[in-house]
Amino acid sequence: MDTAMRLTVYGQGAGEAAGLARERVLELEALLSVTDESSDVCAANRNGGGVLHADTAALLERALALCGETGGALDVSIYPVVRAWGFTTGAYRVPEEAELAALLERVDYTRISLEGTVLTLPEGMELDLGAVAKGWTGDRLMELLRREGITSAIVELGGNVQALGSKPDGSPWRVAVQAPDGSGYAGALEITDCAAVTSGGYQRYFEQDGETYCHIIDPADGRPARSGLASVTVVAEEGAAADALSTALFVLGRERGEALWRERGGFECVFIGEDGSVAVTQGLEGRFSLYGAWEGRTLEIVRK
Ligand code: AMP
Ligand code: MG
Repeated sequence: MDTAMRLTVYGQGAGEAAGLARERVLELEALLSVTDESSDVCAANRNGGGVLHADTAALLERALALCGETGGALDVSIYPVVRAWGFTTGAYRVPEEAELAALLERVDYTRISLEGTVLTLPEGMELDLGAVAKGWTGDRLMELLRREGITSAIVELGGNVQALGSKPDGSPWRVAVQAPDGSGYAGALEITDCAAVTSGGYQRYFEQDGETYCHIIDPADGRPARSGLASVTVVAEEGAAADALSTALFVLGRERGEALWRERGGFECVFIGEDGSVAVTQGLEGRFSLYGAWEGRTLEIVRK
């Protein structure tokens, strides 16, 4: 998953459970990576589909539903465009308008057919589950740890944090929200039994001719999202939803993001604007506090 991971598990049997969780992550990584030629996803992309492993199929099914819920701001068929910008290899470039237009014809998650584990991709379509895979993996780890009798754990997969229960002393977990400008932490979030996932333009990007291009692509035009947000953190019970929504909200921007929050519900978020503004949806009131160099700023509360 191209990121550092940390599993912290408390209580009786914690060591063994953490070991099983680690193995589960490696097993899922081997199935889901778009850069590992031998993964299930790469095989499907090469072959225009095929019979998927049960885990890959379950993730894709959930991801497709979430693409629909975000109105296509999340689109798991965006891979050819992500690759054209060089984000898969690090050979960054700015594609021509005509090239993007041609690639976008291959992007449309509604044309993906998944019947059980049988996937059929239209000609030229390729999947990238990277925007949902870490969150979905977090859900699987919560399942596994619960099954092992664990009641207190925290799992960090890059910008994804997912908590099982509360801290061993019963207090909520405190999760740091990175300052998108590199000034350490912007704030701290208290969570219990849920996931907190951040998508930000600062996480992976390149610069060319004074322009900054980030790794999250707006499927509407095939260009890196420029919605006025520097980052967005989504808090939700389900890791897959939190991950999908953070990517989608980064594309949608604050105004359309707030609309999705009001209509869909089931999640809360922290918006950090490119202008340095910070706003949280009302469910996070009292659970998010500005931190360090960000402490003096105004914290806006978004209400229903
Ligand atoms: P995340 O870090 O969860 O926000 O996911 C970003 C990753 O998902 C990128 O590195 C791409 O591989 C992929 N991606 C970029 N834009 C989109 C999009 N609009 N929909 C789905 N996946 C995307
Ligand atoms: Mg995501």
